[in-house]
Parts: sequence; C-alpha cells; structure tokens
Amino acid sequence: MEPSRHLEILHTVASALSRSLDVEEVLRTALAALTHVTGHEISSLHLVAADGSTLQLRGDRGLSERLRGVNRALPIGEGLIGHVAASGQTLTLTAVTESPLLFAAARDAVAADGIRGFVCVPIRAQGRILGTLSLGRQVPEPFTPAEVQLLEATADQIGVALDNARLYSELRRQLEELKRTQAQLIHAEKLAAVGELAAGVAHEINNPLTTILGEVQLLAMSAPSEEVRDRLRVIAEESARAAGIVQNLLLFARVYPPQRTLCVVADQIKRVLGLKAYQFQLDNVRVVPDFAPAPPVWADDNQVQQVLLNLVQNAHQAMRAARGRGVLTVRVRPAEGAVRVEVLDDGPGIPPEHLPRIFDPFYTTKPPGEGSGLGLSVSYGIVSEHGGRLWAENRPEGGAAFHLELPIAGPAPSSAPPRELPLPSRPLHVLLVEDERRVADVLASLLKSLGHTADVAIGGRDGLARVGAGAYDVVFVDLKMPEMDGREFWAALEVRAAPLARRTIFMTGNPRSPEAQAIEAEGAPVLGKPFTLKELAAVVRTAAQR
Ligand code: ADP
Repeated sequence: MEPSRHLEILHTVASALSRSLDVEEVLRTALAALTHVTGHEISSLHLVAADGSTLQLRGDRGLSERLRGVNRALPIGEGLIGHVAASGQTLTLTAVTESPLLFAAARDAVAADGIRGFVCVPIRAQGRILGTLSLGRQVPEPFTPAEVQLLEATADQIGVALDNARLYSELRRQLEELKRTQAQLIHAEKLAAVGELAAGVAHEINNPLTTILGEVQLLAMSAPSEEVRDRLRVIAEESARAAGIVQNLLLFARVYPPQRTLCVVADQIKRVLGLKAYQFQLDNVRVVPDFAPAPPVWADDNQVQQVLLNLVQNAHQAMRAARGRGVLTVRVRPAEGAVRVEVLDDGPGIPPEHLPRIFDPFYTTKPPGEGSGLGLSVSYGIVSEHGGRLWAENRPEGGAAFHLELPIAGPAPSSAPPRELPLPSRPLHVLLVEDERRVADVLASLLKSLGHTADVAIGGRDGLARVGAGAYDVVFVDLKMPEMDGREFWAALEVRAAPLARRTIFMTGNPRSPEAQAIEAEGAPVLGKPFTLKELAAVVRTAAQR
C-alpha cells in the first residue's frame, strides 16, 4: 500500500475519532474507518473488562459467527490476543494456524475461515493497556511493516479517543454529583427554615393550648354531671394530642445535641406513627403495630425517632410509588442483649443489585427533590454510634424488611430515683410572670384549685416590680417573652432576691430547645406547655422545697 494511502487512512480514523466522546461510538467509528479504508481485512477490537483479567470483544468487522463466539471473552495472558494484552508487544504472523499460542478451539474456526495472515497490536492510553486491535486476512501476502505501523498508529488514536471519552464521562459524573449535592444543600436550607418556623409556631400554638387545657381542667372540677365531664375529657385529650403533634414537629425540625436517656423504643415508634398517621390515611397505608414487651435502651430518643422516621418514610414512599396503597408492619421484639425493631412493607422491595449500596451517602433511586440519599446513611451512622445494627433484606412474600437492633441499657447510671416529697403544709403564695394574660389567668386559677394563691405580672418588668411588694414562695416565669425574657428576669431576680431565684420555675412551649436545656442544666425546673394539673402540682411542690 502507498505511504500516502496510509496517511489518508490514519487521517480518516483520527478525524472520525476526534468527533466522538462516547466509548461505544469511538469503537464503532474506529472499526468502520479501519476496515472501510483498508479493504478486505477481518478486524476485531477487544477491551480489558472491569475484572482486569479478561478481554471482551467490543466490535468486529467480517468475523464469522463461529469465530465471534470463540473471541467473545478471552483470558489476558493466554492465546494470541490475550498474549498481546499482557505483553504490550505487537504480534505479526504469516500462518496463524501454526502458532503454538493459538487456542485449540480457535484453531478450527480460524482454519475454517481461511485466515492466514494476522496482526494484533495493543491499545494504550497513559501507559496503560486498554485492549487490543487485530486484523486478519485470507490472502497469502503477509502484513508489511508499513501496514503494521499503520495499525499501531490507529491503535494509538483509539487509545487517546477512549481516554478522552473516559475523562468526559468522569467529568459528566462529577457534574451530575455536583448538581445533586447542590439540590441537597438547598433541601437542607429549606429544612432549617422549616425548623425555625416550627419553633415559632410551636410557641404560638402552645400558649392557646395551655389555656384550653387549663380551662377544661378547671371546668371538669365543677362539672354538673358525668356526661359533661366525659365531654371535657375529650377536649383535654384532643388538646394533649395537638400538643404532642407540635412537640413531634419540633423534635424533627431542630437538631439537638445527642442526649442519651432510658428510651422505650415502642414509645418512639408510636410517636413516629402518630406523626405520619394522616399521610398514611391519605395514601391507603394500613399500619400493623406488633409490639412485644421489651426492656428500654440507652439512647438519644430524638435520634432513635429520626432513624425510625427514615425507615417508615422510605417504606411509605416505596408502597405509594408502586401500588398507591400498602401494609406497614412494625414489630418490636426483645433480642439477645438488644431490642429488635422490624419495619416491613409490601412495596416493590429493593432490587438485589441496589441492596449493597442503599446505605451509601447520596445513594438514591428517587427523583431529584424527593430523595437525598442521606436518610439511610445518616440512620446507619446513628445506629452504629449507639452500638447497634441496621440492615435490610427483601421479604420472601415481597416488599422490603429493615431490621434495627439497639443494645439494651445496662444498670441505670447513678441518678437516684426522684424523692417523693411531702405536700407542703401551708398554702403557697405564687408570682406568675407571663406575657399572655389568658395563660397567666388560667394558671392562677389552677394554682388556686390546688390551694395556693397567685399574683399575675404581665412581662418581666412588672414581675420584678412585684417581687419587692409581696413575699412569694415560688415564681413561675415564661421563658420566651418580648422585651425582658425569662432568663433576663431570672438574672435580675438573683440580684434582688436570691432565695426566690432558686424557687423559680420556667415555662416553655419547647422544653427540648437548647435554651431550655441550658436552664435545666443550671438546676431550675422547666415545665413544658401545655401541662396537666398533676404536672403543675408536682413542679410547685418540688420548687417550694428548695
Ligand atoms: P432516599 O430515601 O433519599 O433515596 P435513603 O438513604 O433513605 O435515601 O434510601 C436510599 C435508597 O434505598 C432509596 O432511594 C431506595 O432506592 C432504597 N430504599 C430504601 N427503603 C426502601 C424500601 N422500603 N423499599 C424499597 N427501596 C427502598
């Protein structure tokens, strides 16, 4: 072949390859260009498979079915082509069937196809062997050194093109990941905003709930009949339920520092199921709770709820997407040294090839906006931190099963059981510092029903003004007030009447907030709003003893 013809071939291959950044297209283009321009040759292209030990036939021109079958997968280091892939050396043969390197199975196929001359060159990129390019011909003339050089030059072009395609797809993958991370950040920001909102709303809702619950309890004391008392009880229970929902919202919306306490897992599940009850009803999800008595675990209940919510949420989404209905079974069982929770759904299950990856961060099969891929990885982290285990499998009857095990609590850490204090012998004189008149009034009436007397101060300044006037046994102060908040009031009280500061009870709609926790850590009692008469009686009794 003329040297100018060689140049033309190389130019055709190179320009065809430079137009493509897709691996499959690179391979197709390379083979087409090569055989089209060289004419009668039989060509094949192999690439090293992901396992690193075999070569896979990725394209050919002119191979018979039989020869294609023999060539489909070749071990690296064996046979003609495998040898080239291992050594990186070009192999040229004039009578291919006579080569001792040829596989016995291939020999018959090669002979049947009448192939005589053979040349195989490695495809390289950045010093690595990516595969091989082979040509065979039926005519007796051997491949000339110029033709071999041409093939080598072509293989180099293919190597560069494959490497470009790899870089390009890597770049695309990174870009996709960047996009996803960005979406997750936006999601996280949104969550933080929702948390802020929930905290504000909780405060606003808890005050009216405190009034409702307080008034109902007062009414119940003077109810004329059992029937009226029953109705009032329904109002009280429903107010308590509303308060529970608000507390749940707060727990999920805000991230609190982990705090381990004795935690009854079934109670946490009930909370989570309560939070999802409405959505389950809308989406035809039937919940089957199946709780056997189990010992408590030593855990951060907020984090345990987060894990359970993730599992329940995933099951819900899977069932909704697959069938628009479903049955969610949640089991609690004592296990050896642990409490086992099983969250079982009857959705589509998890494809076996996804199973090993579902706990990876950012692994999601859900459309953007619906899944962040963080739920299970965060859950896994929490459970491991607790010394527990979390794993998943598919149920034989269909659907997914998530298993969670938390180690049961050892002997309780040294906190002594709360001492049951005797009721104070005399009625107490209480100062109530609140920014909402109705909350203060109902609280005053409740205290009166307990045999105490109460003065109401609206706001911290009014409260401080009254401290000088009356001799108080106990002070109630709302933590969150405009102008002077509960903590500022407390600090000022400490200066004016230190013994009374020690008998101050804080009230808050959000007892799990960092502010409330800090106050509790300093030894002051914190009463969550709304509260029952019983809780009120207990906290007054304790504070008066200080
Ligand atoms: P996300 O829910 O944001 O996708 P997760 O880490 O919670 O992130 O879950 C990762 C993936 O695990 C999901 O995208 C889904 O493919 C799979 N998965 C989790 N729970 C289930 C389930 N109950 N049924 C089927 N697939 C599930």
